[in-house]
Amino acid sequence: MSDLRLPGADITTDALLRRTCEVATDYLGVVRERRVGAEATYAAILDALGAPLSDAPEDPLGIIERLAANADPGLVATAGPRYFGFVTGGVLPAALAADWLTSTWDQNAFSFVVSPAAAALEEVVRRWLAELLGLAPDVTLGIVSGGTMANFTCLAAGRHAALERAGWNVEAQGLFGAPALTVVTSDESHASLFAALQMLGLGSARVTRIPTDAQGRMRPDLLRTALQGINTPLLVCAQAGNVNTGAFDPLPEIAAIVHNAGGWLHVDGAFGAWASASPRLRHLTAGLELADSVSVDGHKWLNVPYDCGFAFTRHPAAHRAAMWVDAPYYVPAPDAVRDNHHFVPEASRRARGFAVYAALRSLGRQGVADLVDRCCMLAQRMAERLSSDPRVRLLNDVVLNQVLIRTEPAAGDPDAATAALIRRVQEEGTCWLGGTTWHGMHAMRIAICNWSTTEHDVELAADAIIRCLPA
Ligand SMILES: *Cc1c(COP(=O)(O)O)cnc(C)c1O
Repeated sequence: MSDLRLPGADITTDALLRRTCEVATDYLGVVRERRVGAEATYAAILDALGAPLSDAPEDPLGIIERLAANADPGLVATAGPRYFGFVTGGVLPAALAADWLTSTWDQNAFSFVVSPAAAALEEVVRRWLAELLGLAPDVTLGIVSGGTMANFTCLAAGRHAALERAGWNVEAQGLFGAPALTVVTSDESHASLFAALQMLGLGSARVTRIPTDAQGRMRPDLLRTALQGINTPLLVCAQAGNVNTGAFDPLPEIAAIVHNAGGWLHVDGAFGAWASASPRLRHLTAGLELADSVSVDGHKWLNVPYDCGFAFTRHPAAHRAAMWVDAPYYVPAPDAVRDNHHFVPEASRRARGFAVYAALRSLGRQGVADLVDRCCMLAQRMAERLSSDPRVRLLNDVVLNQVLIRTEPAAGDPDAATAALIRRVQEEGTCWLGGTTWHGMHAMRIAICNWSTTEHDVELAADAIIRCLPA
């Protein structure tokens, strides 16, 4: 072990980072073509990388070489064009490059004092995102680790505002003895929304769930009925983009009902909110600007690296109150300068604004619209190709980037046949997609939200899926 110098601009660090850059670009060079699913088992990865921690330091270059070689079989090509599982974006080159710099600069995005650049950049992207998503120009933004924490942050702000109206300070007093708060979700709200409610002490099971229609949209008539006679503080959670069908809750109607009842409306727009950026699809998110809070993912459709989510609210005081932390050494920035920590649950954190900045600038307003439109067009193409086979049944109206299919063989159980189909497709490796259960049916869910997916990728994937169908 010849080199114990700490990282710095010395020759060893230089060689290490140049070689790492090669390893990274080699990976990107093959990610389009490599098998999409991982090959290694859990045990094999543990075996390859799980030797006991050595007493002595190790050479950094050797560590990186062995890490890259041994992790490789356990990598999933989510950065490539044919990963359609969950709702998973890729990584735009500019965002990746900015993310490398983010780690290099090692800025603490806590406050203006610790990193003026990180603070200012989050304000810059706040303005751009508000414009692209059709939100008010003065909407507040916390850049958090993803959609789950965006839901958490928004609902914390909503919890504050709803209880404040009833004369209760939830941050100071907690929920013990608090006025009852009515929490309403859709029957098909995303699992992370219930996780957020559970972390906020609002309970995931004590909510009123409003039934949905045949596409998974919250039924406003049933919401109206459910709210009749309710005079407690109220928090209602709707969604823009059902995680299975891509369908949008009718937000203008829902907003009118919720605001009429004096409630706070939160909209989970993790991926669906991006429809606002497309002139062709903007009608789908009508009413999003009426929401009191909106959560959106950055690492899904915007194609920035993990971890990135956006928590927006129209209520600066509630947003700040919900996230407020004070300590004698938290020296505030001068007036009118943004301190990021007022808007997020974390103190020290990654400077997430740089990658968002680079992604948005590299696409431009037109590029964001094109990205969204292209993915939706490819989802249409996928749905057409698959449903032209009589063994495939398309379950949803493909209004966005989500395609929900299943196979219903002439004989036998369609749920089991669909599960077997999903397994075969995953093993075959041309593409990767997962399963879900929707309206009592097992289904295969295809989400297209990677900037690098082409029509050819959709053809390759559709052909592979068709080859895997039961005879
Ligand atoms: C993915 C998703 C979430 C959770 O976001 P994470 O970034 O995975 O935490 C929430 N809501 C919807 C609709 C989603 O698709």
